[in-house]
Amino acid sequence: MNKLKTIIIGGIIIVTIFIVSANANLFQSQPNTQNLSDNKLKVVASFFPLYEFARNVGGNKTDVYSFLPIGEEPHEWEPSIQQIEDLKGTKLFIYNGAGMEAYISKYMESGEFQNMTFVKATDGIPLLKADSAEDDKEILAQGGLDPHVWNDPIFAEQEVTNIKNAMQKADPANAAYYENNANAYIAKLSELDNDIKTGLSHCKKDTFVSFHNAFNYFSNRYGIHDVWISGMAPEVDVPPQDIQRIIQIAKDKDVKVIFSEDLVDPRLANTLADEVGAQVLILSPLEGINQTEQQEGKTYLDKWYQNLHNLRTALECQ
Ligand SMILES: [Zn+2]
Repeated sequence: MNKLKTIIIGGIIIVTIFIVSANANLFQSQPNTQNLSDNKLKVVASFFPLYEFARNVGGNKTDVYSFLPIGEEPHEWEPSIQQIEDLKGTKLFIYNGAGMEAYISKYMESGEFQNMTFVKATDGIPLLKADSAEDDKEILAQGGLDPHVWNDPIFAEQEVTNIKNAMQKADPANAAYYENNANAYIAKLSELDNDIKTGLSHCKKDTFVSFHNAFNYFSNRYGIHDVWISGMAPEVDVPPQDIQRIIQIAKDKDVKVIFSEDLVDPRLANTLADEVGAQVLILSPLEGINQTEQQEGKTYLDKWYQNLHNLRTALECQ
């Protein structure tokens, strides 16, 4: 009987370990409430790319989760009262800044989170002005900047370094661990940068049509051009004159691919593609993750390599 019990308990433990380890790499958008008493550094990152960077630097010395839930688009998203409540016990709140988290200033200024450090991941990165700043009041109210630095792997490296510095300051006992993890992840970002350079080096075209204006830093880095359907945020409500302008550019440049995104309604991209005789592919702005991708354990790097593949098709690269 005792032996049987041991086998059963052993089995349960093995199954539990398996489930825990199988989930370790899956996107987390909930705080780890079961381990509130453990001494891991509690970290929340505002949305997908920062969550990915924090998870890779923090490794098993931290509990990291994404403030933005699965399937949500971060522009103009606001947290619920429950999500604010869940921040209790969090030591680091990592955010992008440059207007990406419209909700953040009121929490930073409220004095409600005195035990939490707000870490601005874009610190030290030369920011571009938002292209549509002049005619978009909401963007102007947030400082008129373009927040999409994470789509440039070199600026992503700077965000990783900022996150590492904050973790080292909050948890000096594990400083060397965070340093090693950051270096390993930065090496992967450098490899991505090289792969993009090589992948886009022999292309027939130099212009692509993105769904929203999320690729300025990226296009500047690699010397290509993008035309966007929607502005700084992916809206489906685009003025007819803008649509006409994009159709004209697409025809002039003989564009054969119109990009949609992973978290938006594809109908507008489909209509445009029909109009110019192009196909629709996905170019992810890396702003979030959907349920299927979460279940498949898709990472920032996986999604960038998928983007590179689709960009190579759009730009007709060899
Ligand atoms: Zn965006």
